[in-house]
Amino acid sequence: MTPHGFSSPDLRKRNRAGILRLMHRHGSIARNDLAQELGLTRASVTYLINELLADGLVAEGEASEADGRVGRRKIFMHIRSHAACVVGIGADSERLQIVLTDLSGSVLGVRNLPSPSSNEHDAVAIEANLVRAIRRALDELTAEAGGVPVLGAGMVVTGRVDSEAGVSLREPRLWPGRVNLREPLELALGVPVAVDNNVRALALAELLLTEAKASSPAGLLFVKYGPGVGAAWAVGGVPWPGAHFRSGELGHTLVENDGPPCTYCGRRGCLESLVSARALADTMGLRGGRVEHLCASLEAHDHQAFATLAARFARAIGNAIEVCDPSVVTLYGAPFRTGSLFDEIAKRVESNERPCEIRRSWLDPDLPALGGAALALDRFFLGQGA
Ligand SMILES: [Zn+2]
Repeated sequence: MTPHGFSSPDLRKRNRAGILRLMHRHGSIARNDLAQELGLTRASVTYLINELLADGLVAEGEASEADGRVGRRKIFMHIRSHAACVVGIGADSERLQIVLTDLSGSVLGVRNLPSPSSNEHDAVAIEANLVRAIRRALDELTAEAGGVPVLGAGMVVTGRVDSEAGVSLREPRLWPGRVNLREPLELALGVPVAVDNNVRALALAELLLTEAKASSPAGLLFVKYGPGVGAAWAVGGVPWPGAHFRSGELGHTLVENDGPPCTYCGRRGCLESLVSARALADTMGLRGGRVEHLCASLEAHDHQAFATLAARFARAIGNAIEVCDPSVVTLYGAPFRTGSLFDEIAKRVESNERPCEIRRSWLDPDLPALGGAALALDRFFLGQGA
């Protein structure tokens, strides 16, 4: 018999998910505090905790000394991070990355494979090759991790992604047409697979897997640089895909009146067409190069061009701040980790009485597939109420 208030399966599911999310956010939390934060009775929390204990998903930690005022010892609960793992998969023009993490998002293993970019017009052939490569890498990673069970996977891709259908809608830098991702991956991996745009998923990773989880910003504008420019807009901890899965195209907002035509949006003067790795290499007379190296070279040898780069970024971010009114703007990518690009951009946005904090991402730019792991963990926390 369930306690009063659990007659609705949806409500029970929501409360289980709420407990797991609070444990994830705080690391460990006392039963009394769970009841207080979720607005539940102690009996209800005990019932749900007992279920989660029986499932092996949570464990009891240290009990605190008795509280003098109340006289009752606090029992702290936490998620058993090593009980299972999730898989993050990231596909972009540079690589196909597969990462295995535990339930706290700590990395257990990584594989970097060549980018799955293909001129193949047969989407089924692209899917088959992709799935084969992922399956093989995952088998190796799980074996190395000691065969820990995989609860779910998340795949992130650049370009437009229909996260509901699990389909890459448009990504000319990877493949010519639509590519179905969720269905073939779920068949091959035998676990639920969430699919989303890479930058939206990285914003979720910032919120779920870094120090930001302790005090989730009310509104987060997440900006990624390298090799192009992408962004995501999260409200109340949830990245919004947009009405047509086009939300966050900061790179294709106009920052100049003219420039070379953009290969993605077709217009002149968009941020990406002026600051992408390819655009910087072209203006520097180089054949290519990683964006962080190109930025460092500009900073060392061409102060005017470096200042222009920072000003263009600041213009786009300043416009987005006016539209979205975020509490935090996070800049993600290798070019923001070294040199003064981050400070030069923040300074220029700041001159406009910016009403929000601008900070560097806490995520490692060499682990883009963590976005996929965050998606899988997010679904796991939601789905464990079932
Ligand atoms: Zn563009």
